[in-house]
Amino acid sequence: MSPSNLASVAVGRPVRGEFTYVVPDGLSGRLSPGQRILVPFGRSMSLGFFLGPATPPPEAESVKLKPIMKVLEDSPSLPPDLIALLRFAAEHYRYPLGEVIKSALPPGLTKAEVEKEAKPDVQEFAVALVPEAPAVLRRAPAQSAALAYLLAVGGRAPIEEVAHAIPGARETLRKLVERGFVRIDEEVIAPGVKEGLAQGRPELLTPEQDAAVKELHAAVDTGGFQPFLLHGVTGSGKTEVYLRAVERTLERGKGSLVLVPEIALTPQLVGRFRSRFGAEVAVLHSALKDRERLFHWQALRKGTVRIAVGVRSAVFAPVENLGLVVVDEEHDPSFKQEDKLRYQARDLAVVRAKQAGAVVVLGSATPSLETLENTRRGRYRKLELKNRVDDRPMPTIALVDLRQERPREPLVQEESPILSPPLLDAMAETIAKGQQVILFLNRRGHSTFLICEVCGTSVKCTECDVCLTYHRSQNRVVCHYCGVAHSVPEHCHECTGPLLKLGVGTERVEAEVAERIPQARVARLDRDSATSAERLTELLASFARREIDVLVGTQMVAKGHDFPGVTLVCVVMADTSLAIPDFRAAERTFHLLTQVAGRAGRGKDPGRVLVQTYNPEADPVKRMLVHDFDGFAQRELERRKVLAWPPYTRMAAVRLEGESAEQTASVARQLGDFISRQMPPASWGVRLLGPAVAPISRIRGRTRWQLLLKAPTHAALAPLLARLEAKLVDIPSSVRVTIDVDPAAM
Ligand code: ADP
Ligand code: ZN
Repeated sequence: MSPSNLASVAVGRPVRGEFTYVVPDGLSGRLSPGQRILVPFGRSMSLGFFLGPATPPPEAESVKLKPIMKVLEDSPSLPPDLIALLRFAAEHYRYPLGEVIKSALPPGLTKAEVEKEAKPDVQEFAVALVPEAPAVLRRAPAQSAALAYLLAVGGRAPIEEVAHAIPGARETLRKLVERGFVRIDEEVIAPGVKEGLAQGRPELLTPEQDAAVKELHAAVDTGGFQPFLLHGVTGSGKTEVYLRAVERTLERGKGSLVLVPEIALTPQLVGRFRSRFGAEVAVLHSALKDRERLFHWQALRKGTVRIAVGVRSAVFAPVENLGLVVVDEEHDPSFKQEDKLRYQARDLAVVRAKQAGAVVVLGSATPSLETLENTRRGRYRKLELKNRVDDRPMPTIALVDLRQERPREPLVQEESPILSPPLLDAMAETIAKGQQVILFLNRRGHSTFLICEVCGTSVKCTECDVCLTYHRSQNRVVCHYCGVAHSVPEHCHECTGPLLKLGVGTERVEAEVAERIPQARVARLDRDSATSAERLTELLASFARREIDVLVGTQMVAKGHDFPGVTLVCVVMADTSLAIPDFRAAERTFHLLTQVAGRAGRGKDPGRVLVQTYNPEADPVKRMLVHDFDGFAQRELERRKVLAWPPYTRMAAVRLEGESAEQTASVARQLGDFISRQMPPASWGVRLLGPAVAPISRIRGRTRWQLLLKAPTHAALAPLLARLEAKLVDIPSSVRVTIDVDPAAM
């Protein structure tokens, strides 16, 4: 058998490796890499992906080879550079290649079916062809009413709108078309794309923007893999730099890929891309319908659309002839997928740029320490924007030491208040000037735990090892891990003592603001209030229109919003994220505080920030006061080096969860023994931590254990992870084991 009639195939099933199939004579001229095909697998047919010719296996095995049954599409769904990226992801993250490919594709292409063309949305417009209702319509009241409506709105309206105003108008309009009084026009609109705020192209760049853009233009012109860090303070105009780089890439006939954190939170950013590049932009986010996703995929694949803007999964968008990759807010935790294929989209973006020979720009006001270290080692070039646009000052930041500044006596007796006098005064003052306030607290709900005043027992979820949060709006206690909600217990179930509501959440802050500053118009932005993408957009738009004075919220208020009316940002408690048992707690705190502070003073009025804390001496808090990111990063990197944490080591977490506590513990020990036996020589520097019970020991009634692996490089870890992955086949299916490479959290 010659290699030309053997094919290497990834099967769309949770199985490891690539498989060899025979190419039947009838198909030999029709195959190209990246095509979706149909192959027999086990006892049934499966979706497969043709990857290229295969080398012949040993004679004995080749007799068992099965043929490819069918080719499901003419032009391949996967372009070559994407195949390379997906192979890398399968290998790096220890996940089956077929499943990796399926998770990259839009839903329309993951079934073993022939590809269908996704139709764009078509909107039908009724157009009046006469200036007034003709006399012949006097005996047809329905038709004259429809025509009169159309004429009243200017002679042209979507059919939907007319039908909404006049029941039965669809039928009536058809009759009017037959009589020649009305015409129907069809207009194609890209699906799932809402117009964002239009914003002009600024004539003049700031000198710093200009220098950054010049470097990027030069890089785009030369082509080839060139990684950059764009380190720009909040409000320094990073987006304009991205836009100019995309513009140049387009002029060179190449495509761009722009990754942004959760898109619903950044409609402004999408709006700026849409208003600059119009129909050249495909917007990819999780709220798209299946058909819309397929439409954008096909448009990019055909090269009719050359810019993709999207959330982490857009790293797999099939942009043709890729010239530029941008990752905005590259430090953002939402780039890490925490389910199935556990990838870090920022890292894959760099890999993709490298494979495609493209320029890559990682932008942030607070770069991740990983990216910073790559810059220090000279792997990435640094572009800096140290000043805000138009010489707007950075906000002034002041601390409120909660140990000194006691909040005023409570209005409601059993709850201790959280807003200190300086905070309340500053808020009242800001609102009186007609300006806006953002209040940030990274916990939702009203009180984050209920505790017995007598015996100290707290109210916990029966299924998870966590305290229940009291939500006053629902009058329930809710588990933030499994979502279970119960009615609020009246007494402690251990000793029937009275329960105290402690731990402040956004709901309570909102209530406190409403009580203390009655004249303020207050709204809350968190996952409980922004229940849908529409609701979220509506809330943000309402705040932008200044119908809200004070916006209280979780990290949803911290993301890249640009609200010129906001001159005061208050951090209700800086300590919440410091207390997380994770080596990234300090970094995460610094990022969050800086991002939320960056929302202040983006308009003509200067901004200020007040940070309430019980830990005024904590390093991230002290450094962020004086905008000292470099100092913070320097010290934090030294600490990571001493303690051998990333970026000076690479990690992998092996996570277990199972119904039975005994069995899960026993499998954890079994895997621990296996790893110890397979451990590479000590000189490779691989270390095993655990097995240990996970920080949250139970979720949804399932016991959780974990093992952590640390090594100086990923290469030292890779062979061990490969053997571990192979070993998982022997683990009973009642215990689920996942390998999380480069984990975001412990
Ligand atoms: P960042 O992403 O760095 O926080 P943005 O890109 O949102 O900052 O820019 C802040 C504001 O400044 C935006 O309203 C933007 O339209 C405006 N802007 C950016 N560059 C310029 C410029 N060269 N001239 C005038 N305004 C600009
Ligand atoms: Zn629970």
